[in-house]
Amino acid sequence: MNLPLVPNLIAGRAVGQVGADPLLVRNPATGQAIAAVAEADAAALDHAVQTADQAFQAWSQVPLGRRAAVMFKLRALLAESAEEIAGIISREQGKVVSDALGEVARGLEVVDFACGVPQLLKGEYSPQVATGLDVASWREPLGVTVGISPFNFPIMVPLWMSPMAIATGNAFILKPSPADPSAAVKLGQLWQAAGLPDGVFQILQGGPDVVNGLLAHRLVRAVSFVGSTPVARHIHSAAVALGKRVQALGGAKNHAIVLADSNAEFAANSVVAAAFGAAGQRCMALSVALVEDSIADEFVARVAAKAAAVTVTAGTEAGADMGPLISAAARDRAEAIISEAEADGAKVALDGRGFRPAGYESGFFTGPTVLDAVTPAMRAYREEIFGPVLAVVRVRDLDHGIGLINDNPYGNGTALFTSSGEAARRFELGVRVGMIGINVPIPVPVGSYSFGGWKDSLIGDFHIYGPESVSFYTQAKVATRRWPAPDQSPEASFHFGARSK
Ligand code: NAD
Repeated sequence: MNLPLVPNLIAGRAVGQVGADPLLVRNPATGQAIAAVAEADAAALDHAVQTADQAFQAWSQVPLGRRAAVMFKLRALLAESAEEIAGIISREQGKVVSDALGEVARGLEVVDFACGVPQLLKGEYSPQVATGLDVASWREPLGVTVGISPFNFPIMVPLWMSPMAIATGNAFILKPSPADPSAAVKLGQLWQAAGLPDGVFQILQGGPDVVNGLLAHRLVRAVSFVGSTPVARHIHSAAVALGKRVQALGGAKNHAIVLADSNAEFAANSVVAAAFGAAGQRCMALSVALVEDSIADEFVARVAAKAAAVTVTAGTEAGADMGPLISAAARDRAEAIISEAEADGAKVALDGRGFRPAGYESGFFTGPTVLDAVTPAMRAYREEIFGPVLAVVRVRDLDHGIGLINDNPYGNGTALFTSSGEAARRFELGVRVGMIGINVPIPVPVGSYSFGGWKDSLIGDFHIYGPESVSFYTQAKVATRRWPAPDQSPEASFHFGARSK
């Protein structure tokens, strides 16, 4: 096999070789294998963690201003490389180039925030909490931290994690998805070019064995995971059992409520873009529209017409709106769920099954699909499809919709389309969901806030990037200080807590 190798990055060097049965990276638009992954073995994993531990000792002592300078440089390099990174992502993940550029831009917001690390790590100081007694507190980094990322955002999710881990003084090891690992390798090169010392950012390639090896390693102190809920649960329980800090973001089933008083054209455009953008392979994709009965027929017709006009082809083609799914298995599963819904009584208002764009007949495509009259009992409603399938459920009113959202086990994002402030307020306060959009279909918070769902969409306590990442990647230290004058010698006190009041 003569495919380009996707290497590990360990101690500043691109290393690794393919095994007998390598993980292959495929271009999902053609189905062709385009690269082979150099999976890290146990020795490489231990070498990377030991290297990270040593690099951490030095990096954590680097002054804040110099750490910030690396972040500023990384920011500039990422911006310069955005087109190149978007091309890599489109070839390996399948999404359209403009969407991949958007992914880079959202990742850059986190680097922007990390550039402010001198401000973010300011401590607290309370002079004279008792006579002659002062208290100071500050936060220090943890040590070796690990990030495990999913296939659907191969640059944004590593950027949700690594700038915050590194700016706060930790070493960071990334385990990218083996489906599209090359954008991570490019990120590693940019960290090096930004002046980050070798070993502070490293990459280990592979699948569950590498993840489990990292979870078990005694020097790994914290684990950030983004991916599906079953794996999030596994990572959380394995890491917690070993006393590690863990944040594990899981899957989603994001609902939008469309009320009769909404701007119909605006709502339909928003729902179509959020359901079918990136072929529905976003954790914030809108996969369920809860539409008020009185406007449902008209809404379904409008959305189906707009979805039928979506240009589906390879993401690298000019004019593409939507690319393929990540694999043949993902496509076949999505199409099977559509068929099951139809058999169970859903109406297929737009059918994407079997869609094969000209010139890409071997790609992993399915077209935009709109299912009407879906009920909560159907698999198309219950499971995350992670494909271009919009399920429309007809609801009586806002409260009916809020009830469905709250009954759903996931709670990542949700949106309301309305022109009523009163309805919007009731929705914001009433839904058990982490991220809310009011006439905003994909409410991913900007980099100065934190991102995280509720319920099965986040296992653990911390949201990701923004202020919660500063807390996640650091631990507090508090110093209580007294500086007695040379002539001051109070008597020994034998009761706990005795202070000079
Ligand atoms: P996945 O859970 O299959 O894989 C995620 C990562 O975990 C990959 O690096 C993979 O190699 C590793 N992994 C897979 N199985 C494992 C196992 N058994 N043990 C240890 N590690 C394992 O997810 P995916 O298919 O790459 O990504 C899609 C999923 O990610 C969707 O469910 C989507 O909703 C979710 N996602 C969530 C968010 C969020 O912020 N909540 C963001 C992006 C994606």
